[in-house]
Amino acid sequence: MRIGQGFDVHALVLGRPLILGGVLIPNEKGLEGHSDADVLIHALIDALLGACAMGDIGQYFPDTDSQWQGVDSKVMLATVYKMVHEAGYKVVNVDSTVIAERPKLAPYIPDMCEMLSSLLNVSTNRVNVKAKTSERLGMVGREECIVAMVSVLLSPL
Ligand code: MG
Repeated sequence: MRIGQGFDVHALVLGRPLILGGVLIPNEKGLEGHSDADVLIHALIDALLGACAMGDIGQYFPDTDSQWQGVDSKVMLATVYKMVHEAGYKVVNVDSTVIAERPKLAPYIPDMCEMLSSLLNVSTNRVNVKAKTSERLGMVGREECIVAMVSVLLSPL
């Protein structure tokens, strides 16, 4: 068995879509980034790479490479999932926390779990997404950014 953890943060800005876990969430602000800035999928990618001791997201999808400009993070996750598979591992389970002051994410969590489980080729009861606020404290509390943290467990194929 292999365990991995991932962390990511992206700034919240006007004029960008808010995409979390591959799901478009209606909101006046969205996440800034080179790709679609899906902070949850980015943290998941880092957790998967970490579990396989294969480095981090920046090594494979550098923000200096125009190939990844505006890319759908689901495409990045599919690429990394293939690497994990080729390394001889499958996903046992995923647990994650998204920390955002607004909007309320609870209504979108089932869709996120469904999206992530299909991308990871596991049943939905193996993927968990939790949403927290930052109790109006700090950079998350000031609605300057959204943070995501993910743990994954892998087992041999
Ligand atoms: Mg990121």
